[in-house]
Amino acid sequence: MSGKFVVVGGGIAGVTCAEQLAHQFPSERVYLLSASPLIKAATNLKQVSRILEEFDVEEQASTRLQNRFPNITVVQSAVTELRSQEKKVITEGGSQFGYDKLCLCAGASPKLITQGNPHVLGIRDTDSAQEFQRRLTGARRVVVVGNGGIALELVYELQGCQVIWVIRDKAIGNTFFDAGAAEFLIPQLKSEKPQVPVACRRTKYTTDVALVGKENSLGSALGPDWHGGLDLRATGEFGHWVHIETQCEVTKILLQEEFRQLNVTASTFPEDQTTEHSSASSNG
Ligand SMILES: Cc1cc2nc3c(=O)[nH]c(=O)nc-3n(C[C@H](O)[C@H](O)[C@H](O)COP(=O)(O)OP(=O)(O)OC[C@H]3O[C@@H](n4cnc5c(N)ncnc54)[C@H](O)[C@@H]3O)c2cc1C
Repeated sequence: MSGKFVVVGGGIAGVTCAEQLAHQFPSERVYLLSASPLIKAATNLKQVSRILEEFDVEEQASTRLQNRFPNITVVQSAVTELRSQEKKVITEGGSQFGYDKLCLCAGASPKLITQGNPHVLGIRDTDSAQEFQRRLTGARRVVVVGNGGIALELVYELQGCQVIWVIRDKAIGNTFFDAGAAEFLIPQLKSEKPQVPVACRRTKYTTDVALVGKENSLGSALGPDWHGGLDLRATGEFGHWVHIETQCEVTKILLQEEFRQLNVTASTFPEDQTTEHSSASSNG
């Protein structure tokens, strides 16, 4: 098969790219190749001001996109090979797609602090989030490394286990708010979660888990309210037990056996839950 344009990836970037190409070149065929069964599309676009737009991101069956743009063909198959000299991509099903122009929108993968350690997980898509939930059921202590939005939400949501939150910065959530606001939020992280969820004044986003791809497929990245359908509760009795280790960088992660060989005593979880611990060097 051959089209002027081949777009790889059915996430928001790939779908928007395919839509724009189909719109601007209505007589050309655009192939959208995606590993995931659902595609992500921007809908309800509103121009709020000259530079501010508002839109929703919606998971859709690929037929909806093909109905709107008859010159788009969506193929659900992962691309396994790119032959740039021949201007061809090969899919896992063995099909070959020739192109004049290729757009690669296959998403990003988390930059994990270590590779190959079975205890280190990154959360990216529905599969990895569900795997995390599965591991959590047997966990006594979870170490969350990183100070971005996903870590912030995760530390608040985790219950029933000890949580050690390791951040390089002086204050939590410094990409979103200042150190003063962070101080104000810390008690919320450590107090019991309300039984009835606090009323939410914004639109909530949900995904249809039943329609999400088969196990180990390369799914699209998650979005707002990604933890909505997950039970982030371990089996311990305590609710929120969070210790924040600020100005700390993880330099090495040891397996249990390697730790034993060091012949040192493991630190206990700090009893004083109200203070943060600051360390210039890592003890992560
Ligand atoms: C937990 C979490 C929460 C987030 N929350 C927010 C938020 O609140 N707001 C926000 O704006 N952003 C959020 N993001 C970021 C947002 O999800 C990403 O920026 C966005 O999805 C990136 O879109 P993309 O199209 O580039 O990649 P992706 O959404 O990752 O899409 C990549 C696509 O490529 C396909 N693909 C991959 N490999 C192949 C292959 N070999 N062959 C064919 N297809 C392939 C995949 O199946 C997928 O369809 C969050 C991310 C995570 C992980």
